[in-house]
Amino acid sequence: MFRCQLCNRLSAPRERSCKIVTETREKEYFSEIRGRMHLVGTGTEIVKEAVLCRECAEKQWGMSPLSRVVEELKLLKEVENVRL
Ligand SMILES: [Zn+2]
Repeated sequence: MFRCQLCNRLSAPRERSCKIVTETREKEYFSEIRGRMHLVGTGTEIVKEAVLCRECAEKQWGMSPLSRVVEELKLLKEVENVRL
């Protein structure tokens, strides 16, 4: 069971949660080669994720990519407000 971080509803037993990424950052991967650290790759890693119910997640995923980004930023603010 989980609590949706957007509408704050408690899930039904065995209801599946939807995770939505609200913040990522650039990440550099290093590996030790012959005693020295070398950059072996770059990518992004997840900084923040929100756990949502299917209803809230579908509202997010049903939008165009650009409005989705805007909505995700709004969502992040709402999620942070819920935590306060
Ligand atoms: Zn919800």
